[in-house]
Amino acid sequence: MMQREIIQKQKPLNRTKPRKGKGKEKACRRCGNSKGLISKYRIGLCRRCFKDFALQIGFQKYD
Ligand SMILES: [Zn+2]
Repeated sequence: MMQREIIQKQKPLNRTKPRKGKGKEKACRRCGNSKGLISKYRIGLCRRCFKDFALQIGFQKYD
């Protein structure tokens, strides 16, 4: 019985239906652009920023 009460108290306020449009998680963390975002490998950068970032972190270009 005690456990039930604790669990209910810890429940966060009901925020139903997260609003679309302001997806902070799905945007480039550098420029905020959500287009061409690379979420693979948890990079979280858009294509353009990734290109810059990639060189810094040691990715190499193979043309
Ligand atoms: Zn970017």
